[in-house]
Amino acid sequence: MARMMNVPAPAIVILGTGALDTARRIQACYPGAQVHGLQGRVEADIAYAELSVHLRELYARGTPLVVLCAAGIVIRCIAPLLSNKGAEPPVLAVAEDGSAVVPLLGGLAGVNVMAREIAEALDVTPAITTSGELRFGTCVLNPPDGYALSSLEQGKRFVSDLLGGESTRVEGDAPWLDDAQLPRSDSARLAIRITPAAWDGRTDELLIHPKTVVAATGVVDGSIVERVRLALDAHRLAPLSLAALLAPVEHMSNAALADAAIVLGVPLRFSSVAASDAEPERLLETAMRMPYEALHGETDVALALTRAPVDPASVGHARGRLTVVGLGPGDASLMTPAVRSALSAATDILGYETYVKMAGPFRADQQVHGTDNREEMQRARHAFELASIGRTVAVVSSGDPGVFAMAAAVLEALETSNNAQWAAVELDIQPGVSAAMATAAQAGAPLGHDFCMLSLSDNLKPWGIIEKRLRHAAEADLAMAFYNPVSRARPWQLDKALDIIREFRSASTRVVLGRDIGRPGAALTHTTLGELRAESVDMRTMVIVGSSLTRSYSLHGNREWTYTPRWYK
Ligand code: SAH
Repeated sequence: MARMMNVPAPAIVILGTGALDTARRIQACYPGAQVHGLQGRVEADIAYAELSVHLRELYARGTPLVVLCAAGIVIRCIAPLLSNKGAEPPVLAVAEDGSAVVPLLGGLAGVNVMAREIAEALDVTPAITTSGELRFGTCVLNPPDGYALSSLEQGKRFVSDLLGGESTRVEGDAPWLDDAQLPRSDSARLAIRITPAAWDGRTDELLIHPKTVVAATGVVDGSIVERVRLALDAHRLAPLSLAALLAPVEHMSNAALADAAIVLGVPLRFSSVAASDAEPERLLETAMRMPYEALHGETDVALALTRAPVDPASVGHARGRLTVVGLGPGDASLMTPAVRSALSAATDILGYETYVKMAGPFRADQQVHGTDNREEMQRARHAFELASIGRTVAVVSSGDPGVFAMAAAVLEALETSNNAQWAAVELDIQPGVSAAMATAAQAGAPLGHDFCMLSLSDNLKPWGIIEKRLRHAAEADLAMAFYNPVSRARPWQLDKALDIIREFRSASTRVVLGRDIGRPGAALTHTTLGELRAESVDMRTMVIVGSSLTRSYSLHGNREWTYTPRWYK
C-alpha cells in the first residue's frame, strides 16, 4: 500500500556510528527524512543533545519516529507523553544492525505500513502484532487521508467478525483495499461501504465516508454550524464527509467562521468573490477546482458533492497566519510550548540564518527562508506576502520577539503597507525568554527591583539619545540590561557608555556578564563596574549593571549569587 498523503517524513534517530549504515538504508525509503545523531558520538544530518528530550519533542510535534535502539529505551523515553490522548505519530524501534523492525505506537497512523516498508528495505520480517493487520495485510480501520471511519466501535465489531471467519463485500470506491487480503465474497452478509451518505442504521456494515462535500456559506454569524448541519441532513449526508467550509474572502478575519470550522472539524477556506456576489453557489463556482454536483440547502448554505475525496488545499485559499515567535536564548528547554507548536504548524519559517537553525529541525514539507540579519523590514514584508496567499508563516527571533527584534518590524511593515490583504492575515506574537531574563536567572536576581533595558546600538537611533538615556537611567539608580553592547562596526560605544555610568555609580557597583547564555559554551561572569573592561564584552554578551543596592555573595565557598533586593532605602 502506498504511503498516505500528508504524512511528514520520519526522523531516523541513532545513538552511535554502529547504526549509521542501517539508518541510511531506511532514509532511502523516505524522501526528506533526516538522520538525527547523538552529539559528540556520531555525525549525522541533525545533531541532538539528549535522546529522551529529543524524542519527546519530535513526538509532540507529530513526527514519525524510527529509533535505532532497544525498544525498551524508546518506550521509556516516550512514556510520559502517552496518557495524553492526542494524535499519535508512528513510532518504531529498529535493531542497529537492521535485523529487527518493531512497530510500537501509531496503529491508526500507519505504523504497520512503515514497518513493512522498512522491513522490506532491510530484507527482514517486521514484528507486526496487530491481529487484523496480520490476517488482512492492512488495517481496515485505518483508511487513508480523505476518508473517515464512521464509528470506531462499529469498526472493531466488524473486524472481529471478519477474524471470526466471516467474509465481506466492498461497495463503493476503496482503492486502498485493492491489495488487502480480505476474505471477499459478493454474497457476504457483511459489507464495507464507502459513501458520503449518513449511517442508515444497518449493523452489518463497516461504513467509511469519503470527504467529498464542501459547504459554502455567504452568511456569517453564530448559526453557521447549525445551518451546515441542516443542509447535510437535508441531503442525508454524513457530517464526516465534509471536507471544508468555504466563505467569502471579505470575511477572512471573522471569528464566528473560524469557530464554526473548528466545531465542524474541517479547514476553513476562502473564495475570492466580490462582496456583492457572495451567494453560496457563486462561492463554490469560484473556489472549486474539480467537477461537482451542486446541492442547495434551504439554509443559505450550498453544498458541493464531488466524486473523489476533496483535498481542502485545492479549494479557494486559506486565511494566512503569521506568528512572530521568540525562541528564548537558545536552549530548547527555554522555548515555550506555544512557540514550539507555532513552529510545528508553520509552512514557512523566516529569520536570520543562525536563529532559523536554532528553531529546527524542520520537516521536509516546511520551507525555510534564512536571510541576513540586517534585512528585517524586507523579511517582515516577505512574511506578509506569504501569509496573505494563505501560508502559515513563523518569523523567528532569539529571546523575546518584542525586545530589539522582529515583532516591531512586522507591525511597522503592516502599518506602513496599509494593505487590506495583509491586515486580514491572522497575526500573533508569541513571547520568549529574553537574554536579560536568562542571564539574570543564571546570576541570581540582579533585575530584582526597578530596571531598564537599553540597546547600545546606534544603528537605528542617534548616539546622542543613547547617552541621554544612560545618564537618566544611571541618575535614577535603575539596574540596566544592555543589549547589543558592541560590534565590530561599533567599537568605542561601550567604553563611552561605561564612562557615563561611572559618573553616577561607584566602582564597586555589581556587574554581570552573560555570554551565549543557554547555548553551547555559555559563560557567566560576576564583576564590578570598576573592573569591567570593554574587551571582555562582545556582541553575544548581555551586560547587566546593578543599581547602588545590587549585591553579590558566595556562602561557604559555594557559587556566587548577585541580586538586587526588593526593598529600597
Ligand atoms: N530579542 C533578543 C535580543 C536581540 S538583540 C532577546 O530578547 O534576547 C541581540 C543582543 O541580545 C546581543 O547583542 C546580546 O547582547 C543579547 N543576547 C541575545 N542572545 C543572547 C544570549 N544567548 N546570551 C547573551 N546575550 C544574548
